Amino acid sequence: MAEDGDRLHDEAALRLAALDQRYTSNRREIVRVLSRAERPLTINEIVDTADSVPVSSAYRSLTVLAEARVVRKVAGNDDTGRFELAEDLSGQHHHHLICSNCGTVVDIAASPRLERALADAARAAAEEAGFEVHEHRIDLVGRCSNCT
Ligand SMILES: [Zn+2]
Ligand SMILES: [Zn+2]
Repeated sequence: MAEDGDRLHDEAALRLAALDQRYTSNRREIVRVLSRAERPLTINEIVDTADSVPVSSAYRSLTVLAEARVVRKVAGNDDTGRFELAEDLSGQHHHHLICSNCGTVVDIAASPRLERALADAARAAAEEAGFEVHEHRIDLVGRCSNCT
């Protein structure tokens, strides 16, 4: 969804460098694939789409990229790990629809109305605890159109 621009890769390289990790060609390819995806991808989907990234390397790379907060692991309704670009890198705030039958996870755009209501509710709920809210994550769980 995001631009596959230099800025994205520069920032990814910086975040890895902060952990003394290199932005290898495999890691760059994984970031490129995720930046073009319209939903969180499983490791197998990433490997199938990527240009010659072995599964073993993809596992290790995704762990490092997640540690560096370049990518984020998305919780689904099954044990399959799915990954997407960190929101502050993709610039695409969104929520997820999760099918409890087939496990599919789909991105949905956040509506301005919902975002405003959530910001107000979050502020009110967190204020008493002295908690500062930076972001929220919303997953809607149900049945996708293929499964109904
Ligand atoms: Zn489904
Ligand atoms: Zn939102």
